Amino acid sequence: MITIGEDINRNIVETCDVCVVGSGGGGGTIAAELAEGGLDVVILEEGGYYTSKDFSLDPGRVVPLLCRDSGASAILGKPNIIFQEGRCVGGSTVVNGGMCWRTPEKVLQRWRWDMGLTDLTPEKLEPFFEKVEERINVAPQSPESLGKGDMLFRQAADKLGWLIHPNRRNQKDCTGEGICVFGCPTDKKQSVLITYIPRALNKGARLYTDVKAIKVKIKNRSAQAVEARVLDRRSGKKKPYKLTVQARVVVLAGGAFQTPVMLMNSGIKNNNVGRHFHCHPNVKIVGIFDDPIYYWKGVHQGHQIHHFIDEGILLAIGVVHPGLATMSFPQYGRNSLELMELWNHMLIAGSLVDDTTTGVVKRALWGEPLAYYYIDHVERERLIRATALLSELMFTAGAKRVFLPFARLTEIKGPDEIKKIYDSNIQPDEMEVLTVHAFGTSRMGANPKRSVTNPWGESWDVEKLFIADSGVVPSSLGVNPQETIMALATRTGQYILENKSKYLG
Ligand SMILES: Cc1cc2nc3c(=O)[nH]c(=O)nc-3n(C[C@H](O)[C@H](O)[C@H](O)COP(=O)(O)OP(=O)(O)OC[C@H]3O[C@@H](n4cnc5c(N)ncnc54)[C@H](O)[C@@H]3O)c2cc1C
Repeated sequence: MITIGEDINRNIVETCDVCVVGSGGGGGTIAAELAEGGLDVVILEEGGYYTSKDFSLDPGRVVPLLCRDSGASAILGKPNIIFQEGRCVGGSTVVNGGMCWRTPEKVLQRWRWDMGLTDLTPEKLEPFFEKVEERINVAPQSPESLGKGDMLFRQAADKLGWLIHPNRRNQKDCTGEGICVFGCPTDKKQSVLITYIPRALNKGARLYTDVKAIKVKIKNRSAQAVEARVLDRRSGKKKPYKLTVQARVVVLAGGAFQTPVMLMNSGIKNNNVGRHFHCHPNVKIVGIFDDPIYYWKGVHQGHQIHHFIDEGILLAIGVVHPGLATMSFPQYGRNSLELMELWNHMLIAGSLVDDTTTGVVKRALWGEPLAYYYIDHVERERLIRATALLSELMFTAGAKRVFLPFARLTEIKGPDEIKKIYDSNIQPDEMEVLTVHAFGTSRMGANPKRSVTNPWGESWDVEKLFIADSGVVPSSLGVNPQETIMALATRTGQYILENKSKYLG
């Protein structure tokens, strides 16, 4: 059953076995796992319930509908980084690119050593990855769905001898509409909205949308209930009603920014809450070709280059809507118009880099998360090298000009100019950086002094309070994270089910 905020016109008190806050990558997954395991589940989602009928190609309409802060949340630092996250049923999985990779072994090894997560071996995680991949239909893309841009990218990588992989994506018969980030218009992308959420509802879970959980009520060091405020999405105003969910177990899965604030609101004093924030800083470049490419025809991202992954650099192409791409071009007025006339001749490629520095998420005076993160010399060098590598790839593919994400060096016109990227001593605050992957703010670990949850995702400070979102992931991964988040959420769900007598008895 789905109840939307607009229809709530009184205070409500619900009772259930498990209250899950957030319906995205982590929340949707664990809600289905628990409901299918026979538990009575209530899901609270701050965003609205939208389906493919509501999705559109108009970013001005669809992005504010599906994303927090209209897709432009800010992480403060040098440079300020734009962060995008979903705020709707299905969370960020509704607007994500659909790439699916398991946690790399070297990352798991780091977690075993650094965080004492000795159980997180590829062998022990195998059944969780398999289950997730089956549930969200992770599969290679059919060749017919790849566009010309993707093929150029692949040919250039082959010419350079770089290791390139076809992407594994959560999709069924995807025909390559290329607009995953506005919500899949054909329901071919198997987001949480159309996989785990229907599974949970089918087993009796009750989903409340347009309700923002504020805090967990705690008694005798044990979670008792969740208090939420009701929103009227049409007017955008808070309604004067409260939803209280009395639950035997509470799972917070609001994402790496929102969950720490809920923990702070609940009076949890653990020093690790909101700290150890990691992300994958991204840069993008734009190549201009003589011939038209129509790079927006074809799947969002058919391939990834993993040749430099040991250096913490992943390269890929991606479809960016013209309206969004123009915002980042340095040209104005007539120059901007002339550039956009070349739209069909462009190819956009980007890189995500592994980070080593950390930031922090605090609670602002107005009650919302405020994140700080300063790019350090390691990320700076990686972003510069990634931009140079992407430029080499573009020129090898036949580009005549390449636009760069640097305020002081905006364009290069040939491979001989790539060395300018290294020589220009670009500083972090001259870079245009964004991210869509956040981690670590409720990290799991074996040492209560260094983590927020134990290795099963249960709070060290409050019993029967679990966390199952990207915040528990202790570090950046170097690859796209949704499979890691879903596998860990599945594992936490199974742990609760296997210990029913302790948690629900
Ligand atoms: C544009 C974009 C592209 C991406 N591409 C990929 C990709 O190709 N592959 C990949 O692996 N990953 C990708 N990601 C990242 C991936 O989608 C996320 O890492 C993952 O969905 C995070 O899961 P989560 O559960 O932590 O948070 P989310 O999926 O963001 O879900 C959190 C949910 O909780 C809700 N919520 C928050 N606070 C509250 C509250 N107080 N009360 C009630 N509800 C609340 C939010 O509204 C949201 O719906 C992408 C992300 C974006 C934004």
